[in-house]
Amino acid sequence: MLDIAKRIKLINALLEQDTEQSLTYAALECRLTLEYLCYERFKLYLSYLSQNDLKNWQPKHIIKQISDQIDDHVSKEFSISISTEKINGRSPETREEFESIEYTPLGTQSELKFNRLHSLWNGVSNVALHIPVPSISSGNIDIYGEKGRIRKKVVDVISFLSDINGNLLIGGSFGEEYSFNCSSCKTKLKRPVKSLLDKTVLSCINPECKESYVIQKNKNDGFEVIRNIIKFSCSGCDENLEVPIRYFQDLRFNQTLNIKCAKCDMLSEVIMRPLMKSTKMR
Ligand SMILES: [Zn+2]
Ligand SMILES: [Zn+2]
Repeated sequence: MLDIAKRIKLINALLEQDTEQSLTYAALECRLTLEYLCYERFKLYLSYLSQNDLKNWQPKHIIKQISDQIDDHVSKEFSISISTEKINGRSPETREEFESIEYTPLGTQSELKFNRLHSLWNGVSNVALHIPVPSISSGNIDIYGEKGRIRKKVVDVISFLSDINGNLLIGGSFGEEYSFNCSSCKTKLKRPVKSLLDKTVLSCINPECKESYVIQKNKNDGFEVIRNIIKFSCSGCDENLEVPIRYFQDLRFNQTLNIKCAKCDMLSEVIMRPLMKSTKMR
């Protein structure tokens, strides 16, 4: 877990130097710190969400996606306490029983206001980490931004960081989960049941594996898992060749994917090209 007090001390020391260079560096340290705060939470959810399924790499969007698809506790404040106390020799079962026993506090996770974080993350960058593109009406090009504007943004970040004072982070979902093993690499893939009400496509979390799956509810209130593949027929032996769809996602126009039939060793080439489909309208 990031030592925020240490980060604040470092950024403050740069502010005290009060040069254009030190303020620019302070802005960079702010931005890296804000990114770290998001990514350290994302790391705790890697067993749920493949990097391949991230819609956007920006720190705020990753936290938002976890909050929407896995569990919204990722950005919330809450405290955890534990107890080994029994009721008549057994574990408590009802709410009243849970509330009647003594607990030892473990710690608190701080709220992460990711919209505010995003605005600060952009803010320090705008005032210090880019040179504005010159225009006909702009004067000289300056390497550094305006000291006063940088200082103000950096101070805003320090104030944001000072409010984060939790002492633990917890990753995971608080409800029932559905899990299955990837058919290729056997890695366990899981999602909270409440996030699977609609048809969901998820990639294997193993970075070496190209499999992805479609999960949908079946009639018996269970789930059906379908391998996300494209099928070809081997021209040598008619065997079905099944290729995970993700192999095609990164192909560019006219690029070729080689598929070797495991049964007859025939090499087939799939070429990425537009496919024409016609429909008679009258
Ligand atoms: Zn896999
Ligand atoms: Zn074959």
